[in-house]
Amino acid sequence: MAGQLGGTPILILKEGAERTRGREAQNRNIMAAKAVAGAVRTTLGPKGMDKMLVDSLGDVVITNDGATILKEMDIEHPAAKMMVEIAKTQDDEVGDGTTTAVVLAGELLKKAEDLLEQDIHPTVIAAGYRLAAEKSYDVLSEVAQEVSPEDKEVLRKVAKTAMTGKGTDVTRDSLINLAVDAVTAIVEEDGTVDIENIKVEKKMGGGIEDSELIDGIVIDKERAHPNMPKKVENAKIALLNCPLEIEKTEIDAKIEITSPDQLKLFLDEEENMLKDMVDKIKATGATALFCQKGIDDIAQHFLAKAGIIGVRRVKESDMKKLGRATGGRVVSSVDELEPSSLGSAGLVEERKIGGDEMIFIEKCQNPKAVTLILRGGTEHVVDELERGMHDALRVVGVAIEEKKVIAGGGSPETELALRLRDYASTIGGREQLAIEAFAASLEIIPRTLAENAGLDPIDMLVAIRSAHETGDKNAGLDVMKGKIINMADAGVFEPLKIKTQAISSATEAAVMILRIDDVIASSKSTGGQSPGGMPPDMSGMGGGMGGMEY
Ligand code: ADP
Ligand code: MG
Repeated sequence: MAGQLGGTPILILKEGAERTRGREAQNRNIMAAKAVAGAVRTTLGPKGMDKMLVDSLGDVVITNDGATILKEMDIEHPAAKMMVEIAKTQDDEVGDGTTTAVVLAGELLKKAEDLLEQDIHPTVIAAGYRLAAEKSYDVLSEVAQEVSPEDKEVLRKVAKTAMTGKGTDVTRDSLINLAVDAVTAIVEEDGTVDIENIKVEKKMGGGIEDSELIDGIVIDKERAHPNMPKKVENAKIALLNCPLEIEKTEIDAKIEITSPDQLKLFLDEEENMLKDMVDKIKATGATALFCQKGIDDIAQHFLAKAGIIGVRRVKESDMKKLGRATGGRVVSSVDELEPSSLGSAGLVEERKIGGDEMIFIEKCQNPKAVTLILRGGTEHVVDELERGMHDALRVVGVAIEEKKVIAGGGSPETELALRLRDYASTIGGREQLAIEAFAASLEIIPRTLAENAGLDPIDMLVAIRSAHETGDKNAGLDVMKGKIINMADAGVFEPLKIKTQAISSATEAAVMILRIDDVIASSKSTGGQSPGGMPPDMSGMGGGMGGMEY
């Protein structure tokens, strides 16, 4: 790269750096972003297709989840990577709507291309898009309907819509019911939902229908010693994250045993120390002990004698959950244990599930702790269930937190397009064109839903539009029958946040890509080909998109 100064070229970039400017830079970036959107487009909707992804090791993933596809695709181009970020953000924030967000961003850029052709400046397009996005949130929240944790019927529909087309067994009514019951059980008084309060425990064996929701915590362990009680009512619970053993360093390392008497003395001492520890635990009033580390055989024996149920090698995450559920505090030595650090639960019991013993901690002090036990014939089935269930819990949680749901099937996008076109005329000027382009971009959703269902996209779009024009705000596409129906009546509901988040991240990404008119790529020291895109460090431009790594 060289500039001219008095005839002498001045090099300002390292040799080998690649630079593209102006329209060419924009074109390339838009092309890359559109390519990404094109790659996931066919997966949108309940009739969407799946992608088979084969990684360099030959492992196969079959999925139609936008975020997963883009993650596995190993994308190089920097502008394309921004599209991947959209999917990631959407997934982190809502757990669904990833394809929608990416497809929308692609269409926003495609429509922007036309405006650029007409010599409309990118900053004008950006301003128009931003106005349109803001207006969209108002319109959507007006079209949306309120939902509360008591509206289980609607929440079940939300879970079912999110799971449709994912090909998992989670769509079964019994599991949808479990998901909704689990989330509604843990709603805090201030209306927030932390799905971390739902413990998901997988247990192979039995059928999917044997899955159940336990009001409390279930731990995949058994009591440490058979002489310990199987069942403790009104339990006082000690939570310990140190071993209940004698560490060898605690005994004089140089001890030399020369006679059987001495050996007995030595062993007695160890036994006494362990008995001491158990006595201390007992003195606090504890009747159950959960230990993150090991419990010595002798200590087990003393615990059993004291009528305390003890569980050892409990996972750290479970210890935390136990603390939360029982109100107990996890302490790091027996000496720290006090009556006030104990938690409580109405029942601690060892019961059999699928042929294995598990520990149930029920009727907890904090009732906002539940466990879903997922059952299935094979490991593959329960793993798949766990993934699907996680998504279902997320969307139901998001719906409850935001207190709003919206009908799907292309209905909100069509309504938005209609209302934004009206809004555009009130703005006027060149921005009006950008807002109109934004409106048209939204229709990519119903259009793609139709296409993927093998229906004529133009016919369908016209039909949905005219239904909205005559006042049916929830008119959308019945992808099975190829008819226009009221999506709310059909029970296709999604959390409002799916739509607002998709619009916000798609708009941000499109604007960011549009505003770039100069791409300077350093030559790669690895000798690989230049991505032909943006400079490696774009972190300063990551407005709300999270860190991007190159
Ligand atoms: P995303 O990754 O964006 O969630 P999906 O493949 O899950 O992509 O498709 C979501 C789209 O499918 C949404 O627009 C949603 O309203 C629509 N949809 C879901 N279920 C139905 C249904 N039963 N009938 C019509 N449209 C549906
Ligand atoms: Mg979805």
